[in-house]
Amino acid sequence: MADMPEILVVGSFVKDLIVSTARFPEAGETVLGFDFQTASGGKGANQAIQAARLGAHVTMVGKVGDDIYGRELIASCTENGIDCSHVMVDEKAPSSIGNVQLQMSQDGRSQNRIIVVPGANMAIREEDIAFLEAEIEGYDMVLLQLEIPMRINERVVDMAYRKNVPVMLNSAPSDRISDSLLSKLAYISPNEYEAADLTGVTIRRDGRKVNEEDVKGAIRKLLEKGVKNVLITLGAAGAAFGNRKEFFLCPAVERIIAVDPTAAGDSFVGAFSTLVSMGIGHERAVCIANHVGALTVSRMGAQPSLPTLEQVRALLRERGENTLLEAEKAAV
Ligand code: ADP
Repeated sequence: MADMPEILVVGSFVKDLIVSTARFPEAGETVLGFDFQTASGGKGANQAIQAARLGAHVTMVGKVGDDIYGRELIASCTENGIDCSHVMVDEKAPSSIGNVQLQMSQDGRSQNRIIVVPGANMAIREEDIAFLEAEIEGYDMVLLQLEIPMRINERVVDMAYRKNVPVMLNSAPSDRISDSLLSKLAYISPNEYEAADLTGVTIRRDGRKVNEEDVKGAIRKLLEKGVKNVLITLGAAGAAFGNRKEFFLCPAVERIIAVDPTAAGDSFVGAFSTLVSMGIGHERAVCIANHVGALTVSRMGAQPSLPTLEQVRALLRERGENTLLEAEKAAV
């Protein structure tokens, strides 16, 4: 059995407080919802857990508050086998919370609106991560998102770049990213809206079909900035990938009942990064990651919805994806 990849995630923890409603309220309006749940989340922790559930050895670096949510957020990662020995507890800032409104219409469609209060995620200081200078070369891939201070991401990217460790930046939520940071990335993975914010290229779509020229245009702009590989997730249209040699668009898995889109992008990015670090080629990694994302949208919550390797294999078997199944099994 090959060694499983060592993945470092420097990122966020967020406790999601989720209300379900048949209709979002208008400004100034109150509506009665029909369900309330809490779930551990945060783009960093979600991606870490997805990678761990697929078998990667994962180390998480981040910050929580000295409160019940912070303890639950760390526990959720350690229960998934993630090394949290470098997760810090801030004395002043509260753990980050996500106010998630989930609208479930009668026709079965769901939509979410999320307000994240960053709390301790934004309290990470440069000295908190200085230890990585000596440790970063031990990792096969570093995963970053944009829910912690930009200067921390910049510092981690610099350290990884100097040691030739590939960095995947999930550029979410949208923010301005310096050209210097972009030029040092092995991978960037915005969704279609974040890609539009980054490049100015709006990806037009007709239902589940996206305009391929728009996708190529957005990818080209990011490659011109020096990013080596660009992955754009396209929701129910699947995902697109491009670098100087390859371009492909892999459609989403069909006949999926999407009950909650929360963490779809996180599960996709965590899965793709793990699969590529296992030695699976880009195209197959995207197609398998589409199955991982599909399972995530078919279940409620952030971390509870992230599938295990066995569940992903079961879906690949059920859909007759034998080539993908064999590629994945050969890599393990
Ligand atoms: P984000 O959560 O970052 O907005 P996306 O909405 O693009 O991310 O979804 C990420 C991935 O999840 C997609 O690339 C696709 O693989 C999968 N996915 C999302 N929605 C669906 C759906 N309705 N059916 C099947 N797969 C989906």
